[in-house]
Amino acid sequence: MIYKDDPTLIQGFLEDTSNIKTGHTPGVYFPESMDDVSTLLQKSASSGKRFVISGNGTGTTGGRIPFGDHVIAMEKLDHIETPVKRERDRAIMTVGAGALLENIQKKAESHGWLYPPDPTEKLCFIGSTIANNSSGARTYKYGPTRNHIARLTVVLASGDILDIPRGKYRADQDGIFRLDLPLAGNLEFKIPDYALPRTSKHNAGYYSAPYMDLIDLFIGSEGTLGVIVEADLQLVPVPEKIIACLVYFRKLEDLLSFVENAKKKSGGVNPRALEFFDRNSLDFLRKVYPEIPAEAAGSLFFEQETAMEEEDEKLEAWLELMERSNAMTDESWVALDVDEQRAMIAFRHELPVQVNEWLSTQSKSKISTDMAVPDESFAELFKFYRDTCEQQGFRYIIFGHIGNSHVHLNILPSSHDEFMAAKALYQDFVGKALELGGTLSAEHGIGKLKSEYLARMFGRKGLQEMVRIKKTLDPNLTLNMGNIIPENYYQT
Ligand SMILES: Cc1cc2nc3c(=O)[nH]c(=O)nc-3n(C[C@H](O)[C@H](O)[C@H](O)COP(=O)(O)OP(=O)(O)OC[C@H]3O[C@@H](n4cnc5c(N)ncnc54)[C@H](O)[C@@H]3O)c2cc1C
Repeated sequence: MIYKDDPTLIQGFLEDTSNIKTGHTPGVYFPESMDDVSTLLQKSASSGKRFVISGNGTGTTGGRIPFGDHVIAMEKLDHIETPVKRERDRAIMTVGAGALLENIQKKAESHGWLYPPDPTEKLCFIGSTIANNSSGARTYKYGPTRNHIARLTVVLASGDILDIPRGKYRADQDGIFRLDLPLAGNLEFKIPDYALPRTSKHNAGYYSAPYMDLIDLFIGSEGTLGVIVEADLQLVPVPEKIIACLVYFRKLEDLLSFVENAKKKSGGVNPRALEFFDRNSLDFLRKVYPEIPAEAAGSLFFEQETAMEEEDEKLEAWLELMERSNAMTDESWVALDVDEQRAMIAFRHELPVQVNEWLSTQSKSKISTDMAVPDESFAELFKFYRDTCEQQGFRYIIFGHIGNSHVHLNILPSSHDEFMAAKALYQDFVGKALELGGTLSAEHGIGKLKSEYLARMFGRKGLQEMVRIKKTLDPNLTLNMGNIIPENYYQT
């Protein structure tokens, strides 16, 4: 196994997109097989050596950043096997944890299959998206990564290689898992007692549900319980046709009523994605897309899957809904073929590019939220975000997954004072989302950046329940310390 400790060669492993600049490591291991990972962890089991698992560094929460620990880089475990058809409408594709999501999606599609999870950032490793239960625009229809994982292979801190096909290990009626492993021996642990929020997306802390599957404990555990080395992904057939559209509205109320009607499938529409851009986001995009109408208060991107012969009928249903909601139909952009749809994806991806470009001219980084709330509380959280930012005179944008009642607020401070004020306000945003029954993180995870807030969601007891599970599966606290659970919780 290759090991690198030349600072110039491993510099990239000290960062992700969180803007944390203080990472440091003695060196980086590059395992080439799951046995390499197992051997490395077995040899280190009694040495006190700790590891941070590294994907491709697009995470936003400092999850892969080491603070003195060694790094395990997953990039060489990048195999992507050919999809195997299991039923008429289902196939399985086996992939290594270091395979790029973009390459997986391309290979699946070249065989007529779709891997539904689609985080906006495609240059991430599949293992990381599983560790973070990532999601994207299509999550509105298909749910997060969790819903598409049929099997995982995980290497535990003991070096045990644990194969977890969905359905094999389930918690009993008392919420207890029992495992008998060659190296770690008999392990027994109880799932957390806390209830998960009623949001349609949630990615904060360990999963818990009655009779839950062990695979769901590892999905979303941000590398704290084991190294994901391989997965079986569940694929669905590529839809025959997609209708995609970017609709502008003069009034925000009209846009919100359009979303509500689309979610109710009013008039026969059936969206797979509903994504929002506020006026300020459109202002950023107008630099590259001057055709964006100046009077637009916001825009909504939607997609619907359809069969070829139903395309006209479905399109008609959407146009009717647009008319009913006073949409700027003539100025809107309908994309019915693959090239136009690619151009529309490029439009959507231009927003983070423009924002990052602006931020690079500033001395301070942005403050961004990733909270979601139950549908009935979305309007209240949205108003709270807007009113607060307007009152403070902040520069801000709001965009994202409105179908899942999950939008990102980015405050873009232009001075140190503004940054500090926005940081203090973040606490209020968290408080409001939790008060409304929401989640601290719907998709980006907790990592090291947000762990201090997690106790507000699950209480001290909830954190202690997570520590108990961590200590059973990783008694020497070897893997991804600092992620999800603040380190001071291990001392109690
Ligand atoms: C512009 C932009 C847009 C984004 N859009 C989305 C979005 O729409 N939806 C979304 O969900 N996220 C989004 N993200 C966040 C990010 O892309 C995802 O969290 C992604 O899963 C990170 O992948 P990575 O390979 O870069 O992981 P890294 O940043 O390298 O690591 C992320 C975490 O996963 C852990 N990890 C990595 N590999 C493994 C493994 N094999 N086993 C166990 N733990 C592991 C790491 O230790 C770390 O904690 C976006 C990020 C950016 C910059």
